[in-house]
Amino acid sequence: MKRYLIIFAAFIISTIFSTTIGQAAAVPVTYHIAFQDQLLDFSDIKVINQDTKVPLEEIAADLDIPFEIEKGITYIRKNGIEISYNEKSQLTAKDAVVLEWSPIVKVDGKLFISVEYIVSEIGYKLKKFQKQNTQRIYKEDWAHMTHANFEIYLDKLLNKKQPSTIKSKANVYITFDDGPNKFTAINNSILKKYKAKATFFFLGKHMKKNASIINSVVKDGHYIGTHSMTHDKNKVYLSSKSFINEMIEGANLVKKMTGEDAKLVRTPYGSKPHITTAMKEELVNNGFKLWDWDVDSNDWKYTDKEANKIVQNVQVGVEKAYKSGDKDIIILLHDRSQTTKALPEIIEWIQKEGYTLKTYEPDHHIVQNFLRDNTL
Ligand SMILES: [Zn+2]
Repeated sequence: MKRYLIIFAAFIISTIFSTTIGQAAAVPVTYHIAFQDQLLDFSDIKVINQDTKVPLEEIAADLDIPFEIEKGITYIRKNGIEISYNEKSQLTAKDAVVLEWSPIVKVDGKLFISVEYIVSEIGYKLKKFQKQNTQRIYKEDWAHMTHANFEIYLDKLLNKKQPSTIKSKANVYITFDDGPNKFTAINNSILKKYKAKATFFFLGKHMKKNASIINSVVKDGHYIGTHSMTHDKNKVYLSSKSFINEMIEGANLVKKMTGEDAKLVRTPYGSKPHITTAMKEELVNNGFKLWDWDVDSNDWKYTDKEANKIVQNVQVGVEKAYKSGDKDIIILLHDRSQTTKALPEIIEWIQKEGYTLKTYEPDHHIVQNFLRDNTL
């Protein structure tokens, strides 16, 4: 009896101890998945309840696992077995028998699957390298390094990667509305000085007379989206027809003047509550994407002398977004005098804090809209 008690007490102490250590160690751990002799590249690796999960789509491509989604149910069919995940019930079934736990989960609209589970189901093996936070997927009868050699190789590989594993905290997207105007040109030169990229949402009505500013913005690698032709609330949101015409005309003008597609829109005053379902459908049908923002600088409220308030709003907003787990933080600014005054300090702070400034990338679209609509 006494003996059990001691073991039990030891268990409790070690649990408390490891929990405390776990919390103290705030340094983010980077996990790796290897396949045979190579490290795989995943956009995200999550450890949920001590189970390592990766985006289903990505591991399916790596391991050649066919999957399809029909009516909210994802099916994986391989080697005569069928694994299905029902989004509604959030349950996973194998050959129509529901499992007690779900190796597949949906996080932020994306399906993740347990590496250990899928690997064993499709007939591969898994070797864990604790020290390197790496799980190696392999097949016994395929040629591969011994685990001992692979571990040495892995250490070299991960050490070499070290400089870049001083990883960015998150991507930050600075966006400017209401240009082009003379402040657009100054903002562009400030961005250049800091080797920073941004995204501009231009108004059609200001574009024709600012052709040279527009060209330098494009030349310096910033994305241009449209912010409508008129910015007039009564015109833009009058009907779904006038709404989509404002966007199409704006995008056509960007195309005509720069040769670039402007398929990302920021609608005047933000999407909510102005955009109706019909307007949203017009956007989708015309191939547009929509960005609102995560951080509102409220820059328009301040005078030049109050530019530091804009900086503060950005700092507070970005930190809040980062702490909430946002990895792609979009900041709303305007091409205005006070914002131009604040911009150098904003960029310096973002870079010093370890965020990466990016321009919008159409091929890696990020969903950010107040409508919470994943098709936009
Ligand atoms: Zn605006």
